[in-house]
Formats: sequence, C-alpha cells, structure tokens
Amino acid sequence: MKCKKCGEKASVNMRQHRMALCREHFLEWIPDQTERFIKKYNMFTRNEKVLVAVSGGKDSLSLWDILVRLGYNADGLYLGLGIDGGIGYSDESHRLTDEFANKNNLKLHVVDIEKEYGHSIPVLSEISHRGHGKPCAVCGLTKRHEMNRIARDLGYDVLATGHNLDDEAAVLFGNTLHWEPDYLLRQGPVLPEMEGLARKVKPLCRFYEREMTAYAIARGIEYIYEECPFAEGSTQIFYKESLNQLENVRPGTKLTFYLRFLEARQSGELFVKKEPAQAHLHPCERCGQPTSAPGFCSFCRMLEKAALQPTELQ
Ligand code: SF4
Ligand code: ZN
Ligand code: ZN
Repeated sequence: MKCKKCGEKASVNMRQHRMALCREHFLEWIPDQTERFIKKYNMFTRNEKVLVAVSGGKDSLSLWDILVRLGYNADGLYLGLGIDGGIGYSDESHRLTDEFANKNNLKLHVVDIEKEYGHSIPVLSEISHRGHGKPCAVCGLTKRHEMNRIARDLGYDVLATGHNLDDEAAVLFGNTLHWEPDYLLRQGPVLPEMEGLARKVKPLCRFYEREMTAYAIARGIEYIYEECPFAEGSTQIFYKESLNQLENVRPGTKLTFYLRFLEARQSGELFVKKEPAQAHLHPCERCGQPTSAPGFCSFCRMLEKAALQPTELQ
C-alpha cells in the first residue's frame, strides 16, 4: 500500500476514504481535516478561548495537541473523578495529562471532585442512590456541571471534547434504536451556547477511533490505554462492537450513518425543529446554572441527596 500523496510506503489505510497515507502525510492530514471541520460547522475562531476537556485518553490529548498545532488558544481541564478500579485509573490518567501539559508548556486546570465536594464519584453515586449501582449517571452529571462551571467562571467561549466518530455513531445508534427525538435533535458537532451554558463542540467527530489511536502513537503522545473500569459491559461498548461488525463488511458504514444523519437534521427533512429549550430554563437556586424545573438543578439535587454542603457553588 502506497501513500496517496508521496508514493512512499503507507502506514495508515483509511478504507472508508479509499486512501492510504505515510506517517508524515497522515500527521498533516489529521490537523488539516480538523481545521476543515472546525470551519464547516462554525465551531470557534482563533480569537476565541477554547477549554479542552482532557481525560488522559488518546482522543482528548490528541485533540489538545491538534488545536495547539493549528494555533488555537486552547487550555485544558482535567476532572479528577477518584476512580481506582484496581488500576489506579484516575491517578494514572491525571499523571499522563499533567505530563502532556508540562511537556508542551500548556495551561491545565485541575478540579478534584473529592476535594471540591467531599467525595469521589463512586462514593457520591453510592450515597446519593442514583444510577443503580453504576457511577456513570452521577459521573456524567458531575462532568457536565463542572465543565460548564469552569468554562463560565474562567471566561472560556467554548468547551471542546474529544468524541470521535465511533463515539458519535454509537450514541446515534442508541438514540435511533429508541427513537429519542429530543436527543436526536441535540446530537451534532456543535451544541450552541445558551444563557449560562457554554457552547460545546466535538472537532474529532468525523475521525474513526483507530485514526485517533494512530495519530496519538505517531505523535508520541503517552496516554492511558485502559478504559475507565466502569465502562466494561456498557451498552455503548456493545453498540460500538455491533457497528464495527457492519464496518468490517462495508467500510464507511459508520461515517455514512453519521453524516447522512447530520444532513437530514440540517435540512429539517426528518426532524421538526422545536422551540429552543432555553425558553423553559430557570437558574438553579443554588449554583445558578440553567435548569428546566424551578429550584435546584439535578447536580445540586444529587448533592443534597448525598447530604452534602457544596462550598464552592455560586
Ligand atoms: Fe464515568 Fe467511567 Fe462511567 Fe465513563 S465509564 S461515565 S468515566 S464512571
Ligand atoms: Zn506520504
Ligand atoms: Zn445547581
């Protein structure tokens, strides 16, 4: 297999694009394409401040690397979830994120959930009785709340996450299997800002997971190989595996599934646009973040249930 650009030996073959590239041209192609997606979906400009949510995994560290290479004003945010799972998951992912930031001289904000709210994510999940024994519900709620809080308090224009095509296609698959119109309407590369909520963007949403792995390795980025121990056996992983089976037989299936959905959503052919949700939002009485019901937001209700007194909420 030869590189499409220079004819040298290719190191990455992208069957869905019928294109193979050598290491050097692949390392140019990924940021070029990212730049194209950032512009195509109007994610952000070089004058805006970007906060990248980094977990220590290949996608988020690669995203940070790409944005900095492209000359964007991008700082990192690491949330310490306090997950051990017998492999010191949080400690190791924090160490690798710190190492990446130091090596590249980048600014990293760190929020340790246990220090901030008195308990780690697994303990918060247990004492607030949410999530049926798995901490993922409390984890997701806390991550959304904290990312938005930090972006808002520190004056970032946009919050970027490292979701790749495999992640997005799996979420889309789930939302389609259950025909979830509200989730389908909100899924996309950009979730616009609303009063009190930062704009959220996913610049890697059109790259396959294996492309991001190849990028991280080719760039020499040290990342945590292990998934969060609580991800094992999740529905999301099952959907990813199912889509991979389809992809193996029909290369490009995942990309077409996602892109055709975006086109249909954009054109309004399949989905009727509803009133923006903002009209029904109220500020939470405790932390000020927008919430659909008057009173406390779900994060503050969770804290209340866990009988905690949040100190840092404003
Ligand atoms: Fe949080 Fe781990 Fe669940 Fe992901 S798998 S939501 S990181 S607890
Ligand atoms: Zn080449
Ligand atoms: Zn709140």
